[in-house]
Amino acid sequence: MPESYLVTAGLPYANGSIHIGHLVEYLMADTYVRALRMSGHEAVFVCADDTHGTPIEINARKAGKTPQEFVALYAEEHIRDFHRFSIEFDSFSSTNSEENRRWVHEIYARLRDGGHLIERDLEQLYDTEAKRFLPDRFVKGTCPKCGTEDQYGDVCESCKTTYEPKDLINPRSVLTDSTPVLKTSTHLFVPLKTYQDFLRDWTHTESRLQPEVRKFVEAWLQEDLKDWCISRDAPYFGFEIPDRPGKFFYVWLDAPVGYIASTEQWAKTAGTPKAVDQFWREGRGKIIHIIGKDIIYFHTLFWPATLHAAGLRVPDRIQVHGMLTVDGVKMSKTRGTFINASTYLEHLDPMYLRFFLTSKTGASLTDIDLGVDEFVHRVNAELVNNLANLLSRSLSFLNTKLDGIYGHLEADTEPYILQAKEALRLGEAQYAGFDLSGAVRSALDIATLGNKLFQDGAPWKVLKEDPEKARNLVTLCLNLARAAVVMIAPALPTLAEKVYPMLGLSLRPTRFEEGAAFDLVAPRRAGAHDRIIDRITRKEFDQIVEATKALAPPAPEASPSPVEPLAPEIDIETFSKVDLRVGRVLSASTVEGATKLLRLEVDLGEDKPRQIFAGIRSAYPPEALIGKNVLVAANLKPRQMKFGLSEGMVLAAGPGGKDIWLAEFPEEVTPGNRVH
Ligand SMILES: [Zn+2]
Repeated sequence: MPESYLVTAGLPYANGSIHIGHLVEYLMADTYVRALRMSGHEAVFVCADDTHGTPIEINARKAGKTPQEFVALYAEEHIRDFHRFSIEFDSFSSTNSEENRRWVHEIYARLRDGGHLIERDLEQLYDTEAKRFLPDRFVKGTCPKCGTEDQYGDVCESCKTTYEPKDLINPRSVLTDSTPVLKTSTHLFVPLKTYQDFLRDWTHTESRLQPEVRKFVEAWLQEDLKDWCISRDAPYFGFEIPDRPGKFFYVWLDAPVGYIASTEQWAKTAGTPKAVDQFWREGRGKIIHIIGKDIIYFHTLFWPATLHAAGLRVPDRIQVHGMLTVDGVKMSKTRGTFINASTYLEHLDPMYLRFFLTSKTGASLTDIDLGVDEFVHRVNAELVNNLANLLSRSLSFLNTKLDGIYGHLEADTEPYILQAKEALRLGEAQYAGFDLSGAVRSALDIATLGNKLFQDGAPWKVLKEDPEKARNLVTLCLNLARAAVVMIAPALPTLAEKVYPMLGLSLRPTRFEEGAAFDLVAPRRAGAHDRIIDRITRKEFDQIVEATKALAPPAPEASPSPVEPLAPEIDIETFSKVDLRVGRVLSASTVEGATKLLRLEVDLGEDKPRQIFAGIRSAYPPEALIGKNVLVAANLKPRQMKFGLSEGMVLAAGPGGKDIWLAEFPEEVTPGNRVH
């Protein structure tokens, strides 16, 4: 039965370019929306630039622009990049819009009038010359721990200690070089624990969260949620709080409200202005947010609590995806793998990346790896040599040897047609369940079948003796190719648009049913065929990497980091005393009063997970650890810490700060496996 959906993708921050890491999500959302429509559903796809907050205010100032001018430049760039990747929003708005301001005001009024806000004083460093409170990175001073001078207000580059800006010795403002003073300011908080029961119910509702996300959120909900500060002091780029002159809404309050404001902009443009209330107040359709792992906390706690408190509809589903890695590691500017969408587009057709990323995107939170050799190999083997090849060889044969006229589907082709129809049904269900990878596979399976029939049937041999038999065989192959194209159309819309006229069909596929039609038969004829898509080489991708390196700011003067001298030699018996195991992170949370630590629950295949404290908070947001397979020293004597018992150690490398990397295993490895 046709249903109605409102689908959102995370709002890109208007402070930088769209890169291939972002594209994982936008391609996933765009493909999902296209598939919903091809299944006959109504789907509205909205997004917006996230424009507010201190980083934008400060970067605009550095660029000599107003924040409005600054975000306008990125809006233009974002819209252009999305369009070139065929990512088609029904509305791509901005959180700095009048619609958004009105919605934020309404939500604020409901929170305030419902008694859902509390006031509290905060003490922060204040620059009396610049007349502003100073964010962490706008204060420098001497490290309170090791005494190194000229350190930022959040972390010491030398000893990696993290602290509050007010802990610095001899602090001074980066803006004016004056000595900041401590100043008290009153702020507004949402007491999230008021909503704890509501959030528990919301979390437990079937199909709202993926099971692994639910576990994660449940762990947060086991403890009292902290009050959430929703105000910031001027100067701030954002919406001023109506009855609090000089106070602004924190960007994380107004950013998700941008989903609603963008829905309103769509509704107006579509000539159905009431649709925004139908979706957000009245219960039309399903509201689905597609997000990355890094913003789970905001979307599963703050956002539903805020909507609930304001009497608006809460989301029906939050679909979380893994992060992009390149050749198995985080994207990196210096390695040239932090690739902007626009840099990629200068070298390769967007279709290749759409194909590869959707073919790797499933319904789980597993990180998505762009292995460069795998990318090149699979594009060539699966997209070019399988799907495009079936189309090219069959079309070319029909057009050059048989006047381009289709034949008939013979009686003995029925099993193949049934097989293709089955793959179409499966693929449609896979798209609906966010298993894009499975759906792409289903399409390729149909193409593989077509290629095998072409090869085995050898129409070039049959042609002389029985041209009609050859025509019928090629006709079957082209009907299968069409089914595969229809199946893959949500992932590769431009391929479908290019190929449909070649098959003698109009425009583009609009429904999955078309793939099961098998109606490319006499007296219809194929259209003129053309090259569909070319093979790629590793060299082309390497050029993208080189171009990205050239964009990166010059590396800071090489600081030779001498390799730590080796520890004294040990024998194998001594080594084998250390029991190393694969552990899967079930939950991760910050620890009150410990700025460096995360508290992990790690599954080692035992009766119950272990609690392990790890000093990795500076390098990993807790959400990013969800589902990771890590390396654990498992027979280490448990250590009683101030915060609880630590039952093991997770192993990591790196100098500290942001540069800490956990040793990881692929998801296929079972937790509890011993590492030898
Ligand atoms: Zn230090």
